Amino acid sequence: MEKIILVRYTEIHLKGLNRPFFEKKLISNMKGALRGISCKIRHEQGRIYVCSIPEQSFDDASDRLTRVFGIHSISPAYVVDKEWDNVVSMSYELMGRELERSGKTSFKVFARRSDKHYFMNSDGINREIGHLMLEKFPQLHVDIHNPEISLCIEIRDSAYIYCEEIPCANGMPIGSSGKATLLISGGIDSPVAGYMMAKRGLVLSAVHFYSYPYTSERARDKVIDLARLLSRYAGPIRLFLVPFTDIQMKIYDECPEKETTVIMRRLMMKIAERIALSEEARALITGEALGQVASQTLESLCVTNDAVSMPVFRPLIGFDKDEIMSLARKIGTYETSILPYEDCCTVFVPKHPVTRPEVADLRASEAAVDFEPMIEKAMEETELIIASK
Ligand code: ATP
Ligand code: MG
Repeated sequence: MEKIILVRYTEIHLKGLNRPFFEKKLISNMKGALRGISCKIRHEQGRIYVCSIPEQSFDDASDRLTRVFGIHSISPAYVVDKEWDNVVSMSYELMGRELERSGKTSFKVFARRSDKHYFMNSDGINREIGHLMLEKFPQLHVDIHNPEISLCIEIRDSAYIYCEEIPCANGMPIGSSGKATLLISGGIDSPVAGYMMAKRGLVLSAVHFYSYPYTSERARDKVIDLARLLSRYAGPIRLFLVPFTDIQMKIYDECPEKETTVIMRRLMMKIAERIALSEEARALITGEALGQVASQTLESLCVTNDAVSMPVFRPLIGFDKDEIMSLARKIGTYETSILPYEDCCTVFVPKHPVTRPEVADLRASEAAVDFEPMIEKAMEETELIIASK
C-alpha cells in the first residue's frame, strides 16, 4: 500500500490540441512548488499522481499543491493492488479512520472502473462495498444525495481509494498566458489583483513606488513581504522598487493642486510601462475598483489609461471593498496589508481632488512640466529584488 496525491485539473481539458502545452506547464509548476520534497510525478489519462512522498512531508506537499494554479482539487489516496480482498480491506481501514476522525455517519460509495476487464463493474463495486461497510460499521447509513463521507474507489492500473477531496486554487498554470507587471502598493487591493491575474496564467513582475523619507523603510519592507506572500501562488516575482520622492515633490510644486493625484498616477503608469517593456510583459495590472476613490472614477481611469499604450488589467473593477477584503483574507495577504504604514499615494493628498478629470486638461498640465529627466533618474535608481516564498 502506498499513499499518493491524486491531482485533478479541469479547465485545461478544454484546450483541445494545445492541451499538452498546458499540462507540461502545470507539471513543471508543480515541480517548482514541491522543490525540496523528494517525490515522483506521474501523468496519465487526464490525471497527475504525486508518488513516493516521504510520510513526514506528505501534509506539506498537499498544502503546497493547493496553491498551484491549474489544479482543481487533490485527494490523498491509498494505492493497493486491485485484487478484491485488498480493495475491501483498504476500504475498511480508510472508513474506520474517517469515522474516528470525523464522527460522521452517512456515506456513499463512488466506484469508477477505467479497467474494463476488471471482474466487477462500477455498480457492482458500489453495492458490494456499500453492504460490507454497513455490516462492519453499524453506525453508518447510506445517503445517496448528500453523503457526509464519499468513499471513492477507482480501478485503474491499481486500485485508488480515498475519502477526501481538497479544493485547490483552480485557474490556469502560471506561464501559460505570458507576462504582466503589477503596480503593487502596500494596500489591500493590489496583491489581490496580482493574485487574480496570476490565476489566469500570467507570470508576474511588480513595481512599487516609494517616497522616502515621507514613506518609511517599514512601508517598503511591507511591500516586499506582500510580494513574498503573493509568490506562494505566483512563483518568484521580480519586484522593482522605484524612488518616487523627487517626482512627487515636483508634481506638488508645479502642478495644479486638485490634479496632483491623477498626474501622479499617470507618471506611475508611464514608469511601470517602461519597466514592463524591459521585462517583456505585455500588460499592466492595478488594484483599482470603479468608484472606490476619486482617482478611480470612470473619468479618472480614462485619464490614467491615456498615459500608457499597454492594456491595463483591473481585475477588481467590479468588486466591493468587502469582497476584496475577504479574498485578501483567503490568500493570506490581509493581515500584512492592514499594517499601518503610509503609501506614497496617501502623502500630500489634495483637499479637493478632481473627480471628473478631462484627458486634454491633464495632458496639458503634465506637458507643462519636464518630467523626463526625473523619470530617467528614477529608473536608473530602481532596485530589483526577487520576492520568493
Ligand atoms: P491598494 O489597496 O492596492 O493600495 P487603493 O484602494 O489604496 O489600492 P490607490 O492608492 O488609489 O488605491 O491605488 C490604486 C492602485 O494603484 C493600486 O491598487 C496599485 O495598483 C497602484 N498603486 C498605488 N500606490 C502604489 C505604489 N506606491 N506603488 C505601486 N503601485 C501603486
Ligand atoms: Mg493604496
